[in-house]
Formats: sequence, structure tokens, C-alpha cells
Amino acid sequence: MNSKKRIVSAAMGIAIAAVMIFVFDEGKKEQPVYRVEQGKVFGTYYTIRYEAASDLKDSLSAAFAEFDASLSMFNPRSTLSAINANRDTTTDAFFESMFAEAERVWRLSGGAFDISVAPMVNYWGFGTRARESRAATTEAQIDSLRAFVGFEKIQLVNHRIVKSDPRVMLDAGAVAKGQACDVVAAMLARNGCTNYLVEIGGEIVCRGVNAKGEKWHIGITKPVEGTSQHQSLQEVLAVSDLKMATSGNYRNFYYDKGERRSHTIDPRTGRPVVHSLLSATVVSSSCMRADALATACMVLGAEEALDLIRRANEEDKAQGSETACYLIIAQGDTLNVATSPNWTIN
Ligand code: ADP
Ligand code: MG
Repeated sequence: MNSKKRIVSAAMGIAIAAVMIFVFDEGKKEQPVYRVEQGKVFGTYYTIRYEAASDLKDSLSAAFAEFDASLSMFNPRSTLSAINANRDTTTDAFFESMFAEAERVWRLSGGAFDISVAPMVNYWGFGTRARESRAATTEAQIDSLRAFVGFEKIQLVNHRIVKSDPRVMLDAGAVAKGQACDVVAAMLARNGCTNYLVEIGGEIVCRGVNAKGEKWHIGITKPVEGTSQHQSLQEVLAVSDLKMATSGNYRNFYYDKGERRSHTIDPRTGRPVVHSLLSATVVSSSCMRADALATACMVLGAEEALDLIRRANEEDKAQGSETACYLIIAQGDTLNVATSPNWTIN
């Protein structure tokens, strides 16, 4: 064999080997399959279903860790905890998007939704402090709390929170689960997923189809008291692209000398809300916004909630999106449903 022939056959050998490696690699490459991740995060449970060629466990843990470092009230080193303890800290992107949405919903709801409600949440035993009897609470006590509750007492200036009173504290509990759903959904989308359902503590972001190629099926829990894991459903929705949050006063409450205390506090009265609205489900442009609006609905009660959702929808419509709600209201022993006119999901 002359040298030219030798070079050609060597080159051909390499080419064939390369093709074989390529074909072998292709065969080995995993096909997209539906995967499930489940666990506990931020004091609640999550279930994430997604279709992907490889598992995204690590990216999910990283997203949760980043979120926790920003907005967790249980993590003493989080941005939120630093702000509450008046430690000098710069705000991060998660905190800032939470703050911006919290401000919008505060305005829209006329102060019914207010993340600076933290001292009142603590007072009534739903925050970090131990629960005491508050049956003898006077207006004077409420007034002393009111002195440092109010969104107008905080400002975000140059990536720093400025408080008009050092006792002002923030509670992101009413938006965090929804925002975490948005964060996880964004991570999945970045990784090329187009079919997924993210559920964290009842808040949901879904897209595409389930493993059977059908729309995702999402239940709205019947608001009956009790902590049973197997709650019955008021309604099952079939949807393929949705950001939805539900707030309810039928799970997190206690009785104090015969008076019922729910975990939704009306910052305007300084007291836990008492009314016939049992649960509010909201779909919106983001799950974070849906979560904040759902809590705002619970503060306002059914009638004003419908008005709030109408105004929120006007804002969203201008951005090519939509906000709608599904309310469950107690009337004697029966449960009534009221929806915004644009609630068309079922
Ligand atoms: P759930 O989904 O468990 O019903 P929500 O989203 O309604 O919860 O959030 C309830 C939490 O929000 C409370 O535990 C408290 O930390 C906080 N919170 C209570 N009242 C308000 C309010 N008026 N505005 C903002 N946050 C509130
Ligand atoms: Mg909420």
C-alpha cells in the first residue's frame, strides 16, 4: 500500500468509528419521560411532575436553596430575616420581585393585603412567637401594633429596605409558595421542559399535557375543617396552562376562649378576619400574584373580593393576561360558589 492509500483508509477507519460512536451515543441518549419529585419545603409539601430526558433534581434543589436564602422566615440567614432583624443587607432579585408584586396588590386591595402585617401575625400566634390567649385584646393594644404596620412605612431604595420605624417587619408567607412555583416553572422551562405541573402547598403552575397526553387535572379542595390528607374536592379542572393559588381559612386556625382565629389578619382592624368566605382560588399572570390576590380576597370577603379581582383583571388585560377567581362561601350548612364573570375554566 502506498502512503496515500494508507492515509485514505486510515481516514475512512476514523470516519466509520466516529459514525459508530455517534449511532451508539444516539441509542444511549435517554428519551424524554415523565418524572416526579416530591418532598417537603418551606414547611409544606411539593409535587413536581415534568417531562424531561434527564432528571432535574439538582437544579430543583438549587432553585429551592436560592429561594430559601432570599425569602424564608425560618432561615435566620435569609434576606427577609436580615431585614426583619435590621441587619444591613442588600436585596436580591427574588426579594425585589416579591416586593414589587406585594406593593401592587397592597394598592389594588386598599391595604387589605400588606406584607408588613408580620407583627400582627405574630401577636395572634401565627408567626414565630408562641400562641397565647388574646381574648382580652383591647383597641389600645391593636393601636400599639398599628404604629408599626403599614406598607407605606417601608421603601426599597437602591437595593436596600428603608423603614420608617425599626419595629416594622415583613411576612412573605402569603406570596412565597406562589412565587416558588413560578421559580421552579421557570427553571423547568429553561431546561427545555414544555410539559410540567408544579405544586407547592396547594399553589400550582402547569403547562402542556400530562403523561397520558391529556390536560392536567387540578382539584379545588372542598373547604371542610380538619387536617385529613384525603380532602374531598369541590371541583376538578382540566387545564394546560395555568398559574393558580388558593387561600383558605379552614386549615390554619384555632379557638381562643370560644373565638375562632384564622391565619388571615386584616391589617386595617388588626384582627383575624371573620366572615363567610371559606376559600378563594385565583388564577393570574403569575402564581405569585395569584397567591397574593387569594390572600387579599380572604381579607376582603366575597363581595369586595369580586371587585378586587375585576380591578386586578383590568391591570392584567392591559398586559395580555387575565385574572379570575372562584370563591367558596358558607351559607348555613351549605357551600355556595361565586366566580368572577371571566372564570371559564372547568
Ligand atoms: P394559605 O395558602 O395557607 O391559605 P395564604 O397564602 O393565605 O395561606 O397566606 C397566609 C399567611 O399570610 C399567614 O399565615 C400570614 O403569614 C400572612 N398574612 C396574613 N394576613 C395577611 C395580610 N393581610 N396580608 C399579607 N399577608 C398576610
Ligand atoms: Mg396567598
